[in-house]
Amino acid sequence: MKKIGVLTSGGDSPGMNAAVRAVVRKAIFHGLEVYGIYQGYKGLIDGHIEKLEVGSVGDIIHRGGTILYTARCEEFKTEEGRAIAIKQLEKFGIEGLVVIGGDGSFQGAVKLTELGFPTIGVPGTIDNDIPGTDWTIGFDTALNTVIDAIDKIRDTATSHERQFIIEVMGRNAGDIALWSGVADGAESILIPEDTSTIDDVVNRIEQGKQRGKEHSIIIVAEGVGTASDVAAAIKEKTDIDTRVTVLGHIQRGGSPTALDRVLASRLGAKAVELLIEGQQGRMVGIQENKIVHHDILDVLTKKHEICKDMISLAKELSI
Ligand code: ADP
Repeated sequence: MKKIGVLTSGGDSPGMNAAVRAVVRKAIFHGLEVYGIYQGYKGLIDGHIEKLEVGSVGDIIHRGGTILYTARCEEFKTEEGRAIAIKQLEKFGIEGLVVIGGDGSFQGAVKLTELGFPTIGVPGTIDNDIPGTDWTIGFDTALNTVIDAIDKIRDTATSHERQFIIEVMGRNAGDIALWSGVADGAESILIPEDTSTIDDVVNRIEQGKQRGKEHSIIIVAEGVGTASDVAAAIKEKTDIDTRVTVLGHIQRGGSPTALDRVLASRLGAKAVELLIEGQQGRMVGIQENKIVHHDILDVLTKKHEICKDMISLAKELSI
């Protein structure tokens, strides 16, 4: 293998730049040429492809977002779109591809592998919802952003003796809500993977009031509904007024934490190593602090498991 490509796709996450840097530097270190494909699969179809040098990825390890930009591309879901993509790869002489993204992007990577094009996936998403890896690139940074925001909300919640409902990202996975809830001592955490109800939330508020606690923090993963819906449901049952905060896209941005930068560097480098070894259709990940790789199709057919012990722990510690 002499020339490889790298792209970022789907939702961006802090640390993607550190992963791009690792891919580029590791490849050049081993004598390969590297091509940056801009705007994910869209840029692959459009031929928005440029050669990257050591200096192209200088000064980006600490930056959020992705210098390669990202996009969603319906055309790539069609056979015709993918045939154009393969032609573009051939035109540039690219023989292997690193795809940094979430499960949607990996569906695309599988399709390329099925067409005989060596592709390796690197898990980059703030949701931490990819099986086969303990952590995805961006999760730790997003978590720290959420915690910083909740700490500030907690100050005003305590001063005004109010109940705050905070909506965090996580359509299918409650990791951001669960981890931030434990890290911030939230009174209630509503996530798709758990059965807690509005009645449970109300019971906790009332239990707190009985011991003189007049404020509480309730975290809602967007997958279970909006914070406004939860506020309305609480109001209907109890007449308790709540304040709603939707953290939204601030969770996606910001300078990556040290953990995310190191993870991205290790995973990006491993992806290049696998391409050099002639592997394809694999996803790199980290499990028990070891860099591993799995069949990407297996990853897509499994479901990410949330840490059940932490759900119980959160309930035990917020009595
Ligand atoms: P994420 O990677 O963050 O989960 P998306 O689900 O939006 O993001 O997927 C990113 C892109 O991956 C899509 O816009 C599309 O180009 C490509 N993709 C997703 N699913 C498929 C599929 N089944 N076949 C081919 N490409 C796909």
